[in-house]
Order: sequence, then C-alpha cells, then structure tokens
Amino acid sequence: MLSRRIGSVLGVGERREKLFRRLGIRTVADLLYYFPRSYEDRSTIKKICDLKDGEMVCIKARAQSNFSSRRVRKNLSYQKITVADDTGIAYITWFNQNWIMRNFDLTAEYTYYGKVTIRGKRVEMTSPKIVKDNKIEPIYPLTAGLTQNVIRSAVEKCMPYIDQIPEVIPDWVKEKYTLCGIDYAIANIHFPETFEKHEFARYRLAFEELLILQLGLRLLKQRRVEMTGTPLCETSGVASFVKKLPFALTGAQKRVIDEILSDMGREKVMNRLVQGDVGSGKTAVSAIAMLVAAQSGYQAAMMAPTEILATQHFESLTPLLEREGITVGLLTGSQPLSQKREVCEKIENGEIQVVIGTHALIQDVVKFKNLRLVVTDEQHRFGVKQRTALAEKGGSPHLLVMTATPIPRTLSLVLYGDLDVSIIDEMPPGRKIIKTYAVGESMRERINKFMLRQLSEGRQIYIVCPVIDESETLELKAATEYADKLKKTVPKDYVVGLMHGKLSGKEKDDIMSRFAKGEIHVLVSTTVIEVGVNVPNATLMIIENAERFGLSQLHQLRGRVGRGNHQSYCILFCQGGGEVTKQRMEIMQQTNDGFKIAEKDLQLRGPGDFFGTRQHGLPELKAANLYLDMPIIAKAARAAEVILSDDSNLNLEHNRFLRYKIEKMFAQTGEFGLN
Ligand code: ADP
Ligand code: MG
Repeated sequence: MLSRRIGSVLGVGERREKLFRRLGIRTVADLLYYFPRSYEDRSTIKKICDLKDGEMVCIKARAQSNFSSRRVRKNLSYQKITVADDTGIAYITWFNQNWIMRNFDLTAEYTYYGKVTIRGKRVEMTSPKIVKDNKIEPIYPLTAGLTQNVIRSAVEKCMPYIDQIPEVIPDWVKEKYTLCGIDYAIANIHFPETFEKHEFARYRLAFEELLILQLGLRLLKQRRVEMTGTPLCETSGVASFVKKLPFALTGAQKRVIDEILSDMGREKVMNRLVQGDVGSGKTAVSAIAMLVAAQSGYQAAMMAPTEILATQHFESLTPLLEREGITVGLLTGSQPLSQKREVCEKIENGEIQVVIGTHALIQDVVKFKNLRLVVTDEQHRFGVKQRTALAEKGGSPHLLVMTATPIPRTLSLVLYGDLDVSIIDEMPPGRKIIKTYAVGESMRERINKFMLRQLSEGRQIYIVCPVIDESETLELKAATEYADKLKKTVPKDYVVGLMHGKLSGKEKDDIMSRFAKGEIHVLVSTTVIEVGVNVPNATLMIIENAERFGLSQLHQLRGRVGRGNHQSYCILFCQGGGEVTKQRMEIMQQTNDGFKIAEKDLQLRGPGDFFGTRQHGLPELKAANLYLDMPIIAKAARAAEVILSDDSNLNLEHNRFLRYKIEKMFAQTGEFGLN
C-alpha cells in the first residue's frame, strides 16, 4: 500500500523514520515521489585521452605502478597510484583511504568514477569511487544522518509498489502528448538505464506537475472572473494630492495610475498587476488608488508581506492621506491584543478608511464595513491563495497587486492569467546605477576600509548575512556573531544594529525606525529586509555568501540602496562556487535591469529548485523547471483547459486523483485547501 509508513516497509526504526520525515517523506508514496537531484553517469566509459578538465567521468583502467602512500600529518595521509587504459595514463590520489590498498588487485581492471583535473598534459583524478556496476546512479538531496546509500536502497525497496500509483493524467492527454505511464516514469526517474529513458520519464513528471499547477491556479481564478463590483470614480481629489507630493510623478507612473483609475471606475472588478522594478515608485501609485477609494466613500486595504514593510507604508502614507482628511489604520500580528481589537472595531464600523497591514488582515475576525479596493504589495512573497484571500472579504473589491519580480511574458500568462498587467518601465529621474562588485575573501580588508569611508561621509550600510535554510537558529547565530564582531571593529561613534526574523514585530519596527532616522549606522540583517524597505541615505549593501541567493533575491536586496541621490554600491561576497555562480555574479555586475535578471535567474536554475517557484509564490516543483519547460507549460495549459471544460470543478469520479494531487501540491506551501 502506498500510504504505508515507510518505517514498516523498510523495517527501520523510529529514529530513521524521523530523519526521512525531515525530508518530507512519511509514506511509500512520498518516497517514490522523492526525486534525485542529479545523476552520476557511470554507464559511459571514457577513454583517458578524451578526458576534459573538470568533468565527472568513468574510466576503465589498470594499475601501472604500485601504490605510493604517505602520512602527511596526524590526520592526513594520501594514497597515489598511476593507472592506464590503451589511450593514456591517469594519476589517481585518495586521501585517508588506506583500506583501498588492502584489497586492491594490481593486475585487475577497475572502473573509476570521479572528477578529472588536467594540469598541462597530466590527467589527474582525486578521490574517485571504484564502481562495480556501470549504471546511472541517482543522487538524492540529503539531510544530516541519511546517506545516499540509505535513501537509494530505501527507494529500491519501495519499487515493487509502483504499479499501485494511480495514473492521474487522462489517457487522451498521454496519447496526444506522447507521455509515458506513471509506473514507467517513477521507475526511470530513480533508476534510469539510459538518459533517454530518464528524459522520457522526467518529461512526463514535469508535464504532470505543470498540469496540476495550472489546474490549481485556474480553480482559484474561477472564483474571481466576471465579478461585478462597485465603481469608484471620485477622482477630483487626485490632482491636489499629486501636487503636494515632494516629487513629480514619472510618465510611467502617470500612465499606470490612469489605467488603474479607469478600471476602478467600472462595474466589473479590477484585477490588475502592476509590475515595476525595485525603486520605480509603486507605493505612490497605490496611494492614489486608495485615495480615490476613500474619497468615493469606501474602504481600501493594503497588505504587505512583512511587518517592517507594513509599518513603513503606514508611516509614509498616513501623513499624505490624513491631510486629505482620510483616516488610516495599521493592523499587524504583533500588535497587543487590545490595540488589534480597537483597530478591528474601527475597520468594522468604517472609522478607518484605509487600513495597512500584514497577513493579519485576512484573518476571520477582521470584518470590513465596505471594502472596495484591495492592494497587495510585493505579491511574489505571498502564496497563490493569500494573493486573493483579502479580496474575498465581501463587497467584491477591486484588486491591485504590485510586484517587483518581473517575469517573462509566457510565464506571467500562466501565473497571472486572470490579471491585466501595467508596467512601470521608467525610474524616477536622477537615480544612479548601483555599482555592483562580486568579490572574494581577499578583498575583505579593502571593503572594510570602504565601509568606513561611506560611514565617515554620513552614509549608512546594510549587511545581509548568510541564510542557512536548514536552521533558523544557525542563521540567527551567524548574524549575531557577525554583528558582535563588527561592533568591535568599527569606531565607537557608529552604531551597529541587528535585525532578524526572530525579533518581535515591535523590536523590528524599533530597529528599522532607528535605522531610518540615522541612529543606527550599520544594519546587520537576515533577509527580512528583502522587500520594500526604503532608507534613501543607505548607500552600501554588502551581501555575505551571495552564492546562496537567487538572482532575483539579490536584485531585491540590492534595491534597498540607490534610493536617494548618492552613488550607491552593492558588494557581493562569494565563497567559492562553480561556473554557474560565476555567471550569476557576472549578471549582477553587468545589469541593474530586473527583467533581464529574472530571465537569467530562471534559466540558470536547475529543475526542482525550491526558490525558483517560491519566488513567485507558487508551490514547489520537483521535476519541472519554469523556464526550460516553457513548451510543456503551453501544452499542459491546453490540456488543463479541456479537462476543466468538461468538469469545471473537478468533481467527477474520474478526476478525483487529479483533485487530490492539486490539493496536495497547494497544501505543501502552507496554502489553504481548495474548496
Ligand atoms: P518601489 O516601486 O520599489 O515600491 P517606492 O514606491 O518605495 O518603490 O519608491 C522608491 C523611492 O522613490 C521612494 O523614496 C519614493 O518616495 C521615491 N519616488 C517615487 N516616485 C518618485 C518620483 N516620481 N520621483 C522621485 N522620487 C520618487
Ligand atoms: Mg515597494
């Protein structure tokens, strides 16, 4: 049975079951759907003369010499041997592997799998594995305590169950798009005999994921299409509001505002996405939409993904709206209960016209008097469901979603197919390009001096610390230690602050407002400052372990500087990293254009990259890659359309597995079930 706990199938104990659970694996089905992240190709044997520097290969060779072995120091010894096939010689080195020599047959031919290094004409392999059978070996993502071998043999033991996996893709879809059956797919994603078979399997699994994803998104969207709302057309106050702003709106802002106001004036509810790169001035645009809603006699709500950002919006928008006679309120999760209650009361009786808040806004206790406009800021940080949850508070409000994550057109059709898109494609004047440098540890001293220079010129600095996603505690420790160390190195007159996700909302606000006022000069932080925060005097962003971040995330973080008139800088510290890291950092240095970066970002990610989809508020995909599998997206979209045209809510018996899979996929990201 697929739903059997893996402990009982594998005969493993509580402790090991717990380790599997950490990988999200509880049942046989979970394990069968736990896909390898890569493969070691031990099926093709290469000739030594054909080897290239840096590649992972198999060679078949015989010893040419005896072992030479030496103990270098207490815990370090090496074992070297020279081997050859009929095309050349390779020099092999192992470290601390004395046992290899013991059972080694100097006359036998072995297969070695490992990484090749070429120095001049010399071919070397360091720590290769001696492999027995020439297969394609799956490599699974691990967790501490579980090895490749443990996972691999667990999957092997579950293989007999594959014929019980229900087929969720309808036969006609499989035929039309030449997809293999689910049992073939699962068998060959784990243990493919050839890479052709693997690709056939992966293609099908990617198709399945993208089909389920799109069906889920369409089910969510169905609720909002063709809703009738209230026209909000009191726009006579806009001109004087705009006149009082400390800047003139850009042409792009004006155009987008026109698009929004014309939507809002209609009876059909607005579903509009505003895309604008970091710093393009989306807040002012949303302020005008909210102004019009309030002056038309209705309520508007704006939801931000973090407390820091909600508070900041509240602080910057309140004075602007209050002088037009509009009452503004703030609602966040960390407010004291009594305060929350008071705000909720005023929302319900209509005393508050514009409310700004976090997820707290979508809780059941929050009831609006006459909500007609919902703004979601930085929507990429919200899940698919949260995006619209606020709009379901009754009254069929107009919906405005704002995002700084630009995505390629084909993708946005899938992700926001129900939304009209406005693009703010112009930056406020006078912005300078943020100078970006990717550097290694050797530059540390120079960067430290540079920091001091910025500080002495009166500027402020952000430092973002490594994110260790497995453990929030470790992440916190790293940031804390970093801040402590920094306090000792920067002159006493500069204040170092520390910001992280574990602080209470009030503590976060405190630190952020002290930074905004210039009382804190250097802010060490985890990625909680990623979205939206606006401190124009901050001109230097230093990102540690930049190789661990996605490009779009780096771009967001970098967008915290360059918000004023001073030249700003972004320093990306990288620890090692391969060719892909190098390419990624190069892109960051070359362009400040969020669109280009987003596209490259998707391109450089492998399938199953967690951030790839999470960046867009989507569930995690395991087999598909949103960028590389664009052709599959289109096909799956057509299939989804036909399936829904037959059974618009997937209530029919033959669609029950599809429905189950959708619920499962969307539940993964903490979304609420579909109902
Ligand atoms: P984002 O699009 O990233 O949300 P913000 O709305 O936070 O950007 O705006 C970034 C900064 O630019 C803010 O300090 C804001 O006051 C300023 N700003 C917005 N529009 C203009 C404009 N037209 N001219 C000059 N500065 C502007
Ligand atoms: Mg913003």
